[in-house]
Amino acid sequence: MELVFATNNKHKSIEIDRLLGENRTVKSLPEIGFEGDVPETGKTLEENALQKARYIKTRLGTDCFADDTGLEIDALNGAPGVYSARYAGPEKDSLKNMEKVLRELKDCRNRKARFRTVIALILDNKELLFEGIVNGSILENPRGEKGFGYDPVFLPEGYTLSFAEMSLNEKNKISHRAIAVKKLVDYLKTLNNARL
Ligand code: IMP
Repeated sequence: MELVFATNNKHKSIEIDRLLGENRTVKSLPEIGFEGDVPETGKTLEENALQKARYIKTRLGTDCFADDTGLEIDALNGAPGVYSARYAGPEKDSLKNMEKVLRELKDCRNRKARFRTVIALILDNKELLFEGIVNGSILENPRGEKGFGYDPVFLPEGYTLSFAEMSLNEKNKISHRAIAVKKLVDYLKTLNNARL
Protein backbone atom coordinates (compact mmCIF):
# COMPACT_ATOMS: atom_id res chain seq x y z
CA MET A 1 0.00 0.00 0.00
CA GLU A 2 1.12 3.49 -0.78
CA LEU A 3 1.29 6.53 1.42
CA VAL A 4 -0.04 9.72 -0.07
CA PHE A 5 1.76 12.99 0.72
CA ALA A 6 -1.07 15.53 0.97
CA THR A 7 0.63 18.38 -0.84
CA ASN A 8 0.40 20.21 -4.14
CA ASN A 9 3.76 21.90 -3.53
CA LYS A 10 6.19 20.39 -6.01
CA HIS A 11 9.22 21.78 -4.16
CA LYS A 12 8.18 19.94 -1.02
CA SER A 13 7.49 16.69 -2.83
CA ILE A 14 10.89 16.85 -4.58
CA GLU A 15 12.57 17.42 -1.20
CA ILE A 16 10.70 14.56 0.39
CA ASP A 17 11.28 12.20 -2.56
CA ARG A 18 14.99 12.84 -2.14
CA LEU A 19 14.83 12.35 1.63
CA LEU A 20 13.01 9.05 1.34
CA GLY A 21 15.49 7.78 -1.24
CA GLU A 22 14.97 4.24 -2.41
CA ASN A 23 12.28 3.65 0.21
CA ARG A 24 10.00 5.80 -1.84
CA THR A 25 6.47 4.62 -2.39
CA VAL A 26 5.04 7.99 -1.53
CA LYS A 27 2.86 9.85 -4.01
CA SER A 28 1.98 13.54 -3.94
CA LEU A 29 -1.53 14.78 -4.82
CA PRO A 30 -0.74 15.68 -8.46
CA GLU A 31 0.83 12.24 -8.89
CA ILE A 32 -2.44 10.53 -7.92
CA GLY A 33 -4.49 12.90 -10.07
CA PHE A 34 -6.05 14.80 -7.16
CA GLU A 35 -6.80 18.39 -8.05
CA GLY A 36 -7.92 21.26 -5.90
CA ASP A 37 -6.84 23.03 -2.76
CA VAL A 38 -6.51 21.29 0.55
CA PRO A 39 -7.92 23.48 3.34
CA GLU A 40 -5.58 24.85 5.99
CA THR A 41 -7.47 27.13 8.33
CA GLY A 42 -5.97 26.08 11.67
CA LYS A 43 -4.39 28.38 14.24
CA THR A 44 -1.28 26.25 14.67
CA LEU A 45 1.02 24.22 12.43
CA GLU A 46 -0.19 21.09 14.23
CA GLU A 47 -3.86 21.89 13.48
CA ASN A 48 -3.11 22.62 9.83
CA ALA A 49 -1.05 19.47 9.28
CA LEU A 50 -3.81 17.35 10.86
CA GLN A 51 -6.51 19.18 8.91
CA LYS A 52 -4.78 18.50 5.58
CA ALA A 53 -4.12 14.83 6.38
CA ARG A 54 -7.69 14.27 7.63
CA TYR A 55 -9.12 15.97 4.51
CA ILE A 56 -7.27 13.60 2.19
CA LYS A 57 -8.05 10.55 4.35
CA THR A 58 -11.74 11.45 4.26
CA ARG A 59 -11.81 12.23 0.54
CA LEU A 60 -9.64 9.38 -0.73
CA GLY A 61 -9.66 6.85 2.08
CA THR A 62 -5.90 6.39 1.80
CA ASP A 63 -3.33 6.51 4.56
CA CYS A 64 -1.44 9.73 4.17
CA PHE A 65 0.70 12.43 5.70
CA ALA A 66 0.71 16.20 5.44
CA ASP A 67 3.12 18.85 6.56
CA ASP A 68 2.83 22.45 7.58
CA THR A 69 5.78 24.77 7.97
CA GLY A 70 6.21 28.18 9.51
CA LEU A 71 8.99 30.70 9.84
CA GLU A 72 9.02 31.91 13.46
CA ILE A 73 10.88 35.18 14.06
CA ASP A 74 11.71 36.14 17.64
CA ALA A 75 11.52 39.93 17.16
CA LEU A 76 8.06 39.51 15.60
CA ASN A 77 6.79 37.38 18.49
CA GLY A 78 6.86 34.22 16.39
CA ALA A 79 5.29 35.74 13.26
CA PRO A 80 4.72 34.93 10.48
CA GLY A 81 4.48 31.40 11.95
CA VAL A 82 1.35 29.56 10.87
CA TYR A 83 0.52 32.49 8.56
CA SER A 84 3.83 32.26 6.66
CA ALA A 85 2.26 31.46 3.28
CA ARG A 86 -0.13 34.43 3.36
CA TYR A 87 2.04 36.88 5.30
CA ALA A 88 1.88 39.59 2.62
CA GLY A 89 -1.59 38.72 1.32
CA PRO A 90 -3.85 35.92 0.08
CA GLU A 91 -1.96 35.49 -3.19
CA LYS A 92 0.79 33.58 -1.30
CA ASP A 93 3.58 35.45 -3.10
CA SER A 94 6.97 34.31 -1.76
CA LEU A 95 8.78 37.43 -2.94
CA LYS A 96 6.27 39.75 -1.26
CA ASN A 97 6.38 37.63 1.89
CA MET A 98 10.17 37.96 2.07
CA GLU A 99 10.01 41.68 1.40
CA LYS A 100 7.51 42.10 4.23
CA VAL A 101 9.76 40.19 6.63
CA LEU A 102 12.73 42.38 5.67
CA ARG A 103 10.62 45.53 6.08
CA GLU A 104 9.37 44.44 9.51
CA LEU A 105 12.94 43.70 10.61
CA LYS A 106 14.45 46.90 9.21
CA ASP A 107 16.97 48.27 11.73
CA CYS A 108 16.19 45.37 14.06
CA ARG A 109 19.29 43.77 15.59
CA ASN A 110 17.63 40.64 16.93
CA ARG A 111 17.23 38.57 13.78
CA LYS A 112 16.87 35.16 15.42
CA ALA A 113 14.39 32.86 13.71
CA ARG A 114 13.57 29.24 13.15
CA PHE A 115 11.79 27.12 10.61
CA ARG A 116 9.42 24.64 12.17
CA THR A 117 7.75 21.78 10.31
CA VAL A 118 5.03 19.57 11.69
CA ILE A 119 4.10 16.37 9.85
CA ALA A 120 0.78 14.68 10.61
CA LEU A 121 0.57 11.00 9.69
CA ILE A 122 -2.66 9.04 9.47
CA LEU A 123 -1.93 5.34 9.34
CA ASP A 124 -4.34 2.56 10.26
CA ASN A 125 -6.66 5.22 11.67
CA LYS A 126 -3.99 6.37 14.10
CA GLU A 127 -2.83 9.99 14.03
CA LEU A 128 0.76 10.92 14.85
CA LEU A 129 2.73 14.17 14.77
CA PHE A 130 6.45 14.63 14.02
CA GLU A 131 8.26 17.94 14.48
CA GLY A 132 11.46 19.33 12.95
CA ILE A 133 13.12 22.62 13.87
CA VAL A 134 16.13 24.42 12.42
CA ASN A 135 17.40 27.55 14.17
CA GLY A 136 18.98 30.44 12.33
CA SER A 137 18.64 34.12 11.54
CA ILE A 138 17.13 36.44 8.96
CA LEU A 139 19.63 38.02 6.59
CA GLU A 140 19.60 41.76 5.80
CA ASN A 141 19.14 40.98 2.08
CA PRO A 142 18.05 37.87 0.12
CA ARG A 143 20.90 35.61 -1.05
CA GLY A 144 20.80 32.72 -3.50
CA GLU A 145 18.51 31.43 -6.21
CA LYS A 146 17.82 27.87 -5.12
CA GLY A 147 15.10 26.51 -2.88
CA PHE A 148 11.76 28.26 -2.44
CA GLY A 149 9.70 30.40 -0.11
CA TYR A 150 11.78 32.21 2.51
CA ASP A 151 15.00 30.29 1.70
CA PRO A 152 16.94 33.34 0.39
CA VAL A 153 16.59 35.24 3.68
CA PHE A 154 17.25 32.33 6.06
CA LEU A 155 20.75 31.65 7.34
CA PRO A 156 20.85 28.41 9.32
CA GLU A 157 22.84 28.59 12.57
CA GLY A 158 26.49 27.54 12.15
CA TYR A 159 26.47 27.96 8.35
CA THR A 160 27.65 30.72 6.00
CA LEU A 161 25.26 29.91 3.14
CA SER A 162 21.58 30.81 3.10
CA PHE A 163 19.17 27.96 2.38
CA ALA A 164 18.82 29.35 -1.16
CA GLU A 165 22.60 29.17 -1.70
CA MET A 166 22.74 25.51 -0.68
CA SER A 167 22.20 22.57 -2.98
CA LEU A 168 19.10 20.53 -2.25
CA ASN A 169 21.32 17.83 -0.77
CA GLU A 170 22.95 20.30 1.60
CA LYS A 171 19.60 21.77 2.66
CA ASN A 172 18.21 18.28 3.13
CA LYS A 173 20.99 17.40 5.57
CA ILE A 174 19.91 20.03 8.07
CA SER A 175 16.46 21.35 7.25
CA HIS A 176 13.37 21.46 9.47
CA ARG A 177 11.54 19.23 6.98
CA ALA A 178 14.44 16.75 6.85
CA ILE A 179 14.38 16.41 10.65
CA ALA A 180 10.61 15.85 10.72
CA VAL A 181 10.76 13.41 7.78
CA LYS A 182 13.54 11.43 9.44
CA LYS A 183 11.32 10.99 12.50
CA LEU A 184 8.45 9.90 10.24
CA VAL A 185 10.64 7.39 8.38
CA ASP A 186 12.13 6.04 11.64
CA TYR A 187 8.60 5.51 12.94
CA LEU A 188 7.48 3.75 9.76
CA LYS A 189 10.52 1.49 9.91
CA THR A 190 9.58 0.38 13.42
CA LEU A 191 6.27 -0.99 12.20
CA ASN A 192 6.23 -4.69 11.49
CA ASN A 193 4.31 -4.19 8.29
CA ALA A 194 6.18 -1.05 7.22
CA ARG A 195 4.81 0.27 3.96
CA LEU A 196 8.00 1.98 2.84
P1 IMP B 1 3.23 25.60 3.92
O1 IMP B 1 3.78 24.61 4.86
O2 IMP B 1 3.22 25.07 2.52
O3 IMP B 1 1.89 26.15 4.35
O4 IMP B 1 4.28 26.78 3.86
C1 IMP B 1 4.15 27.96 4.59
C2 IMP B 1 5.06 29.02 4.03
O5 IMP B 1 6.40 28.73 4.38
C3 IMP B 1 5.04 29.18 2.51
O6 IMP B 1 5.18 30.54 2.22
C4 IMP B 1 6.26 28.41 2.04
O7 IMP B 1 6.79 28.96 0.85
C5 IMP B 1 7.18 28.62 3.22
N1 IMP B 1 8.07 27.45 3.37
C6 IMP B 1 7.71 26.19 3.66
N2 IMP B 1 8.78 25.39 3.70
C7 IMP B 1 9.85 26.20 3.43
C8 IMP B 1 11.24 25.94 3.29
O8 IMP B 1 11.75 24.83 3.42
N3 IMP B 1 12.01 27.01 3.00
C9 IMP B 1 11.50 28.27 2.82
N4 IMP B 1 10.21 28.55 2.92
C10 IMP B 1 9.39 27.51 3.22
